[in-house]
Amino acid sequence: MKRLDAGDLRRLPGTAATPPGCACAALRAPGWESVTGPIGAPLLRSLGTLRDPEVAEPTVAEFHQDGSRYESAHAPIAPAFFPYNRCEVWACAACGRGFLQYTEFGGYYVDHRLREIDPARVVAG
Ligand SMILES: [Zn+2]
Repeated sequence: MKRLDAGDLRRLPGTAATPPGCACAALRAPGWESVTGPIGAPLLRSLGTLRDPEVAEPTVAEFHQDGSRYESAHAPIAPAFFPYNRCEVWACAACGRGFLQYTEFGGYYVDHRLREIDPARVVAG
């Protein structure tokens, strides 16, 4: 799978570029949202991954700005930090708007998470 970085994420079209009525408009996730399962074709197409194949256990440290928390809509998208360092990158098959997805594995559950990519929130770290 293709490895992507902050620069790749910044080049994606933002939410404002979504045409009215595009199928992806139903996916509203300015901050991390739980979804019932991974979302893929035909709605989304895979672009690649932010995960470094050389790192077996990516850090669980988070990077925040302006008082943001994990679930904040204004939290920065920091590819080197949790949970971005384990995300796959997807794009709307119709308009190209970007989304991040990963799966959290707890002791008794799996939780699929989705977040829209706002290119303006992508930081290099
Ligand atoms: Zn779309």
